[in-house]
Formats: sequence, C-alpha cells, structure tokens
Amino acid sequence: MLKAIGKTPIQPHHRASCHCGAVVLEIHLPAGLPQPHRCDCSFCKRKGAIVAAVPATDLKVIRGQAVLRKYQFGRQVAEHFFCGICGIYTHHRRSTNPNEFGFNIGCMEGVNPYDLGSVPVADGGKWEEPMGQSR
Ligand SMILES: [Zn+2]
Repeated sequence: MLKAIGKTPIQPHHRASCHCGAVVLEIHLPAGLPQPHRCDCSFCKRKGAIVAAVPATDLKVIRGQAVLRKYQFGRQVAEHFFCGICGIYTHHRRSTNPNEFGFNIGCMEGVNPYDLGSVPVADGGKWEEPMGQSR
C-alpha cells in the first residue's frame, strides 16, 4: 500500500475528479493506495491511464452521476465510465472482478501520476474474447 504519491499523502477518503469537475468521486483508502498498474487490454492500451482497484463499496460517485457515460465491449462485464462533458475516464467496474472498481490515479486530488515512475502492466488482454476487437 502506498501512503503517498510524490509529496501528496493518500487520504483515507481521497477525492478524485474529471477534468471539468462535473464528476467527483470519493475513494475509501484506509490503508493507502493499492498497487498502481496499467492494463494492456484493447481499451486500456488506448486510454493509457494508470489505475488502482478497490472493493466496489469503497468508491462513491458524490457528484455528476447524471453526466457519467458508460462504455462496454466484448464480454460486456466491465463498465468503463467517463465524463460526458470533458471525456475523461474516471473509473470502471473490472472484468476480472466485477466486485471491484478500478479508478484513474490521474484524477486523484493533488496527485501527479508520473511521480509513480514506471508501474507494472497487468495482462488484461487475456480476459478478452478470442474473437473480440483487434488489439
Ligand atoms: Zn468532466
């Protein structure tokens, strides 16, 4: 668990927002931030965000539920959410574990994700359907 990213301490209830501010999340991180990673599935490799995952009950949309848009593909398990105004990906329900949300570390208040240096790449592509979208 990370207790800080750069000089920014991870708060027990850390806020995250899209670029325009319409969508605000509150993420419960009582023990710090779980392992940040990237994913190499056909969607994430295009999006490029560094993400971490929490139990679904630990992520709340506290503003902007109505402007959130949802994108699904392939097995239709994962739900990828992004702001309908500014287009920024905020969080997603994970296909590998639908009881968890991944979220965009770049959206976290006060956090520069590039302070993390290089992060592991998860093999998300293997969860896609063999005949799914081309990668
Ligand atoms: Zn926005």
